[in-house]
Amino acid sequence: MQKQQKELLKVTELKQYFPIKGGILGKTINYVKAVDGISFTIYEGETLSIVGESGCGKSTTGRAILRLDEPTSGKVEFKGEDLLSYSKKKMNQERKNMQIIFQDPYASINPRQTVRQILNEALEIQNVVPKKERNQRVIELLETVGLGEHQLDRYPHEFSGGQRQRIGIARALSVNPELIVADEAVSALDVSIQAQVINLLKKLQREFQLTYLFISHDLGVVRHISDRIIVMYLGKIVEIADKKSLFKNPKHPYTKALLSAIPSTDVEKEKQRIILGGDVPSPINPPSGCRFHTRCPFATELCKTEEPKLRRMDMMKEGHQAACHFIETVEANEKQPIL
Ligand code: SF4
Repeated sequence: MQKQQKELLKVTELKQYFPIKGGILGKTINYVKAVDGISFTIYEGETLSIVGESGCGKSTTGRAILRLDEPTSGKVEFKGEDLLSYSKKKMNQERKNMQIIFQDPYASINPRQTVRQILNEALEIQNVVPKKERNQRVIELLETVGLGEHQLDRYPHEFSGGQRQRIGIARALSVNPELIVADEAVSALDVSIQAQVINLLKKLQREFQLTYLFISHDLGVVRHISDRIIVMYLGKIVEIADKKSLFKNPKHPYTKALLSAIPSTDVEKEKQRIILGGDVPSPINPPSGCRFHTRCPFATELCKTEEPKLRRMDMMKEGHQAACHFIETVEANEKQPIL
């Protein structure tokens, strides 16, 4: 459940289509519909996670919100201001309020710079600290993320993967952001290191009242950090719920399959694993109707023609919502597909 109800970021009907060029003239012949009309809100102080298989559009959503890629259409409001109407210059200034941590910290840090230079540069670009105070701020930042002053003049390659991610976090924190988009931020790390970085993120959230958009393919990881969770499939949101409700009572057949795939030591749970047939279809020509119908064991003719809208499953504000024509039937036939 969200900790506070004050909206920080509101996304409305966001679309991100990437053109495919072809022919001798290099004209646009089609589009990859990576994100196709999604809407959601992030509240101050919460961690909202987006999960789904590779290609579902979760990372594209994070990049579109920060305008690292220009969205095709839709609305992104940060504290009520329409980010898509900002000039490039104004957006660059606004980015100090919205930072991103990548899976691979090398994507955002210069491997030829020392940690001191990396953090100093971030402070200099956004001019958040007077020059004479920068060195002290750099030391504080490093200590905040669990590293030490003695490591300031080392290069990124001298650190482990977990330590490098801590540098990426320090860099994001350096400009005092309100929102951090963590894009598969712990996916490349060993499980024990993942836990350390997640604990660090949670500690920083409490200390600095941060809001997170946490993007991951791993529901097991998402479980440890989220307040609410969005499940995406092929550019669409198929389910949104608070963490407890999603894990205890998932509604959408796709969410059920994802949850059943989380490794467990419980033999009974392992036996109930739902194996989805086939691969995720191409986002160039997504299936008609419900995009999940080609893999859904409960699909009917209606699913092939009519797109299900997100429906409320409870009466709570921003409560449990899922997009499936047959949720009630699926629940009644949990162990028995309709067809
Ligand atoms: Fe499956 Fe149909 Fe529900 Fe889509 S709408 S998830 S195809 S039952």
